[in-house]
Amino acid sequence: GDASPVECALNARDGPHPRTENTMTPIGHFMSNKPFAGRSERIAEIRNPATGQVTGKVSLATKDDVDLVVETARRALPAWAATPPAKRAMVMFAFRDLLKAHTDELAELLSAEHGKTLPDAKGEIARGIEVVEFACGIPQLLKGEYSEAVSVNVDSFSVRQPLGVVAGITPFNFPAMVPLWMYPVAIACGNTFVLKPSEKDPSVVMRIAELLAEAGLPEGVFNVVNGDKEAVDALLDHPVIEAVSFVGSTPIGQYIYSRGTANGKRVQALCGAKNHMLIMPDADMDQVVDALIGSAYGSAGERCMAVSVAVPVGQETADRLVAALEPRIRALKVAPYTDAQSELGPVISQQSYDKIHRLIAQGIEQGAELVVDGRDITLPGYEDGYFIGGCLFDRVTPDMAIYLEEVFGPVLSVVRAETYEQAVEMINDHEYGNGTAIFTRDGDAARDFWARVRIGMVGVNVPIPVPVAYHSFGGWKRSLFGDHHIHGPEGVRFNTRLKTMTTRWPSGIRTGAEFNFTGGK
Ligand code: NAD
Repeated sequence: GDASPVECALNARDGPHPRTENTMTPIGHFMSNKPFAGRSERIAEIRNPATGQVTGKVSLATKDDVDLVVETARRALPAWAATPPAKRAMVMFAFRDLLKAHTDELAELLSAEHGKTLPDAKGEIARGIEVVEFACGIPQLLKGEYSEAVSVNVDSFSVRQPLGVVAGITPFNFPAMVPLWMYPVAIACGNTFVLKPSEKDPSVVMRIAELLAEAGLPEGVFNVVNGDKEAVDALLDHPVIEAVSFVGSTPIGQYIYSRGTANGKRVQALCGAKNHMLIMPDADMDQVVDALIGSAYGSAGERCMAVSVAVPVGQETADRLVAALEPRIRALKVAPYTDAQSELGPVISQQSYDKIHRLIAQGIEQGAELVVDGRDITLPGYEDGYFIGGCLFDRVTPDMAIYLEEVFGPVLSVVRAETYEQAVEMINDHEYGNGTAIFTRDGDAARDFWARVRIGMVGVNVPIPVPVAYHSFGGWKRSLFGDHHIHGPEGVRFNTRLKTMTTRWPSGIRTGAEFNFTGGK
């Protein structure tokens, strides 16, 4: 049949990849630095979201496949944990250079399955590389603490030791970056790792696994098992797995947290979001509109830090905001990633497309005003793709489904607030607490906002306040289950266990040596 744009793109890539030979050979797993087919008979289809066509298949691991991979990681553990941190860092340095050198190739693989634009895909790889750079400093990060003379001749010191075999379970929306939030830090700390990526876009991870092997990582230290609930449950119940990092939706994250912790594991589960941008009457409206266009519609709104609610303070601010946003949203270029002009691509799946349409219909039913309706978009040649144009709702109220639920699509809701206090209260009352931002020229309002808001990551005139790699990423409330944020210093704490020694050395050989010397012959 006709080759889809994705197949053409994949076939045009340089270098070998299993899928270029036969796109319908299921992608398997990655173990001992090699691809591993597994024994599962269940597969999932991978679709190009721009065309709706099946472009690949991925094997869904059985419990036995998972057991084999975990056993491989367990066997690799003692040698890797005993490798000096500076040597582990050397692998990270080499890995970082390979990721940089292969960014274009990785971005192509990523966009072909996810649908996001190439600049967006390169951006997420760049942010992932920053975590690898952080992990290069692991000798410094693992330095312990020492107290001389906690009592007469007694010293005390603390070290952080690796946990063992740890697992990561990741979502479709950042198929390269979110896994990179996890395993560079985990591995640098001396753990071995099993990653279960999203079954919707696993190819980029498989290629990165090859690069990690090329960087000199010993066999068995980093492994990938593809799959769905069966593989996830096998990891959550596996007695060898010490800790689980999860990123994904709140219902699944809560389940992972409950089951994992019930099995005695350390779990961090980073989940869904509803990020508000508070706009004060004194804000620079051009800056606000630029910031909202990028943060609400970029990557089709499929970012856990996407701004999905704008809260202008005062009717006049709201009127100016909606008037300025409307033409900009209508002008957004919606197209597949293969079109260099594309500003946003399709959403990930038919299921996601249907959910977004359902929420938009509910918004209208419940009385919100749909100022820009992007639902009827048609792109010639891409009629079966999951495209949704930018949508703007005005006069949304906090009781509506479009406000309460995470939409994860290119839909922005304006909720008008009478006062600053009312706006802050609304943000604090929302069940999610991932990110938020205030736009203002007033330092006092900004300071009051970041100090009082019950949200994990706060921007002041910064719409998407994603912490840099050497800080840690994480939300509050139902946006994170567990005690640790991810990457940065919190990532090191999550991936290590504290051990504290108290030591006393009674006088022995030293006085004996002196006796021998003075005693002589
Ligand atoms: P998802 O919860 O559907 O899937 C995440 C992972 O869980 C995948 O690997 C999937 O295979 C697995 N999974 C799915 N159903 C499962 C089940 N029943 N049992 C066990 N495992 C299961 O999430 P998604 O749709 O891939 O990603 C989008 C979500 O991720 C959004 O809610 C978004 O906000 C969230 N997200 C959060 C952050 C953050 O840092 N807080 C970052 C990125 C994405």
